[in-house]
Amino acid sequence: MKVLVAVKRVVDANVKIRVKADNSDVELNNVKMAINPFCEIAIEEAVRLKESGVAEEVIAVSIGDTACQEQLRTALALGADRAIQIDTAQTLEPLAIAKLLNAVVEKEQPGLVILGKQSIDGDNNQTGQMLAALAGMPQGTFASQIKVEGDEARVTREVDGGLQQVAIKLPAIVTTDLRLNEPRFASLPNIMKAKRKPLEVITTDALGINTAHRLSTLKMTAPAEREPGVMVANVAELVEKLKTDAGVL
Ligand code: AMP
Repeated sequence: MKVLVAVKRVVDANVKIRVKADNSDVELNNVKMAINPFCEIAIEEAVRLKESGVAEEVIAVSIGDTACQEQLRTALALGADRAIQIDTAQTLEPLAIAKLLNAVVEKEQPGLVILGKQSIDGDNNQTGQMLAALAGMPQGTFASQIKVEGDEARVTREVDGGLQQVAIKLPAIVTTDLRLNEPRFASLPNIMKAKRKPLEVITTDALGINTAHRLSTLKMTAPAEREPGVMVANVAELVEKLKTDAGVL
């Protein structure tokens, strides 16, 4: 079975985000970029499926400009066998991403597609679900455990009320939650080996997908600064302040 993993290049989780002076977007110049943390978990899970003999090949796919090859090389160093970059200079919306991934799914025919539950830049949480609809495949989102048994995947999902278990027929789409696994670090020999692993570049035009934007960003602003807190001596003072100062009681 082939496992396809969608890997997104995002601003590193440790970077403090700044908004551009003209409020058009987030500042990306000279900012450290990394694999979206949920996609790193997706790669780790796919590699573990290969190590346990369930998967034969792990393919990492990323949609973006040449820079996202850096994240694909990291995915290769973490254990993916080959990589595909869908080359586009635009920042695409989840529906366009899902359509492009669906084109790769049609070409590669994977038994399982693993995505992150969300990208930490847009926080969309849409691509996996849209891909499942486009590909006509069952989905197990927010996975904290995946067990593949025969032609079925048993997925434990993190839902509001606790954990939900679903059994889905393969081929299927799974999106990863934080507790699914703890990703490994790439070792130096594996980073060197990754440089020689195959990385195919496909243009969006070659896939014949309309990636036109449907949304426009009017303005990007930083969240309001939080007011400093105050210390209160006791509960009575707290209640008084909630009544008089905050006006919430
Ligand atoms: P989102 O719906 O944007 O929150 O993203 C959910 C998941 O979709 C991510 O964790 C990735 O697995 C995948 N994804 C989103 N954008 C891209 C991209 N440009 N390239 C590859 N995978 C992506």
